[in-house]
Amino acid sequence: MQKFEIAVVGGGLVGRFAAACLAPFANVALIEPNQSAPLQEIPHLRVSALTAHSLRLLEQAEVLPQLDEMRLGEILGMELSDEGEHLSLRASEISQLRLGYVVENEHLSAALCRRLQALDYALFKTHARRLERLAQGWRVHLEGEEPIEVKLLLIAEGSGSALRRQLQVKVELMDYQQTAWVCHVETEKPHGALAYQRFLPTGTLAFLPLFKPNWSSIVWALPSSVQFDFEALQRAFPDLGKLKLISAVGQFPLFAQNAETYVGKDFALLGDAAHTVHPLAGQGVNLGFQDVEALTAVLKAKEPLRAYQARVKRHNEWYSMGFSVLNRLYQEEHGAVKTLRQLGWKGLSHLTWIKKALMQQMS
Ligand SMILES: Cc1cc2nc3c(=O)[nH]c(=O)nc-3n(C[C@H](O)[C@H](O)[C@H](O)COP(=O)(O)OP(=O)(O)OC[C@H]3O[C@@H](n4cnc5c(N)ncnc54)[C@H](O)[C@@H]3O)c2cc1C
Repeated sequence: MQKFEIAVVGGGLVGRFAAACLAPFANVALIEPNQSAPLQEIPHLRVSALTAHSLRLLEQAEVLPQLDEMRLGEILGMELSDEGEHLSLRASEISQLRLGYVVENEHLSAALCRRLQALDYALFKTHARRLERLAQGWRVHLEGEEPIEVKLLLIAEGSGSALRRQLQVKVELMDYQQTAWVCHVETEKPHGALAYQRFLPTGTLAFLPLFKPNWSSIVWALPSSVQFDFEALQRAFPDLGKLKLISAVGQFPLFAQNAETYVGKDFALLGDAAHTVHPLAGQGVNLGFQDVEALTAVLKAKEPLRAYQARVKRHNEWYSMGFSVLNRLYQEEHGAVKTLRQLGWKGLSHLTWIKKALMQQMS
């Protein structure tokens, strides 16, 4: 039977990144049935806005050179607005070259695979189905393959994690009763490497700059009862002129989910398996990469697993709560809440130090 120090179950962006960070110093297996799909002229529907911090982590893990610069949408600044107020944020205000990049998930996944090919690790292209407890570690039963034995199990199966259920880790769930509608558009005016976010009573609307000057990726959170309507999108966001749909339209139900614990005896949860946040601030992958950063440091220092939980759990929960509150604030039409919102915007635009602190947090 093959034995490993660490098995990462789930090779989404977070699981593959974990394998790439851990393989240089541990005997690692990655279990993931799917491969990344080749890039097409029109970008894949799922994209992620990566912060400057995530880019630094990718650089340290030698993944960054594997990305094709021509397929990265640079984010030099953000334009935040609601129906009355407006706030501009620029990377130069915090002495940064950029706030981040928008990257297709498939592109990043392929870059992670290329980096992994240069490392000594084992890939099992199948599902992990069942766990068997050993005196030390686990026997992991794989679909259609011999089981493997591992000392430490890292679960990066995404929000619906089946192994998390097998391990009886409870989650706290908040259903936003919203759907995120996702598509790419060609805009009449160039995006100028700016990300736009509009807070509307129906939900948040984000335009993320893609690698072509007139292409943006859209994430529009709407109440679940409301259908996507392209004319309504055009009315909600006239800033970049006339819009032309250039992709299919996808939809994702929105919920927040937090695992009660991220660690147990010989296992840890990572990424969406541990926490799922509202995409209004585009932080899911970024928080997942920070999990990997913290866990790698803990394992390298041979600290107990609970040190990993201590480093990231509360931070992730604060983020999740913050996004939920922001989302809720915009569904509330009560006069006092409206006034509070306006005061918040004014405070942010006039108190430069708060604005800079916010940007430092986002990068
Ligand atoms: C509309 C939308 C927009 C978003 N935009 C952003 C953004 O701009 N920036 C950002 O940072 N985040 C964003 N996010 C969040 C981000 O997409 C997720 O946080 C991230 O993809 C989670 O990655 P993951 O690797 O943890 O999980 P997943 O991507 O769900 O990957 C889980 C993997 O595990 C595999 N798997 C599952 N079970 C098993 C098993 N038993 N055995 C083996 N393999 C298994 C699956 O095949 C899958 O590949 C967005 C989310 C949504 C819905």
